[in-house]
Amino acid sequence: MIELIERLTESFGPAGSEGKIRALLCEEVEKLNHSYFVDTLGNLIVTAGNKNGKKILVAAHMDEIGLMVTYIDENGFLRFTNIGGVIKNTLLGTRVVFENGTLGVIGQEKIKEAKDLDFNKFYIDIGARDRNEALEVVGIGSPAVFYAPLSRRGNRIIAKSLDNHIGCAVLLEVLKRLPSSIPNEVFFAFTVQEEVGLRGGRTVSYRLEPDYGIAVDVTRVGDTPEPDYKMEVSLGKGPAIKIKDSSVICHPQVVQLMIEVAETNNIPYQLEVLEKGGTDAGAIHLTKDGVRSGALSIPCRYVHSPGEMVDLNDVENSVSLLLELLKKSW
Ligand SMILES: [Zn+2]
Repeated sequence: MIELIERLTESFGPAGSEGKIRALLCEEVEKLNHSYFVDTLGNLIVTAGNKNGKKILVAAHMDEIGLMVTYIDENGFLRFTNIGGVIKNTLLGTRVVFENGTLGVIGQEKIKEAKDLDFNKFYIDIGARDRNEALEVVGIGSPAVFYAPLSRRGNRIIAKSLDNHIGCAVLLEVLKRLPSSIPNEVFFAFTVQEEVGLRGGRTVSYRLEPDYGIAVDVTRVGDTPEPDYKMEVSLGKGPAIKIKDSSVICHPQVVQLMIEVAETNNIPYQLEVLEKGGTDAGAIHLTKDGVRSGALSIPCRYVHSPGEMVDLNDVENSVSLLLELLKKSW
């Protein structure tokens, strides 16, 4: 699974430009015995299970946060805006890569006080000598993502875009292990544009009209040095069963079922209340007259930075929990 995670996280897929990451996911799905389709916005949907059973939508977003060029000056420096929740403090000195492989590093103008730091103080330097040389490889509107090869020590891995390529890897692994006969009809959706407002999840859910929705995504943790911030979730203590975040209050029936399945199968789990942040369940549960929804979260440190960290035990336990959940009658 680690090779797959490496290929996914080192791929390119900022919200709105998911072509490369989707091609990679399609390649993986092709190896399995399931039918799939891509919808108008670019969501990839794989179908499995019993057509007469309850319809369950399992969604993991394939897009990642990124940057987009807004202006190129005479000296060839690129000004940019954010795609999704980019954190300003992680930018200076960070390397970025464009879709055609062009690399750059982020520089910053001098500022008087920390509070003056804003996106308009940063620029990308691709080493171009002037505007024309820059325009040979990038243009206005060109998207970029962090450039960060995956590294591993024991069970812990560091990479960019574990949010949410680790969720995509979990879905693929569950698809691989899914028995041919299960009671439910399951749609595995690899969604687009989650990072800019849960957009792909909304159209997928509208089209499929599921009875239940489960988002698989990362969540923040409270086990790093942050004196003023308390959160229950820790790295390595199992997948988190979401109770609430800013986008959704999970349906008690779904939360209860997830807890039951974890306990019956001796899968470690944690309960998650995420004070700031959302996931595709936020869009799914508001479809038509409502969809009972929940979320399974993989604990992740430094979310939205170029160096996100997850524990592979949590990943494996997330696969087990989702698999057992889908094998059950709902
Ligand atoms: Zn996410």
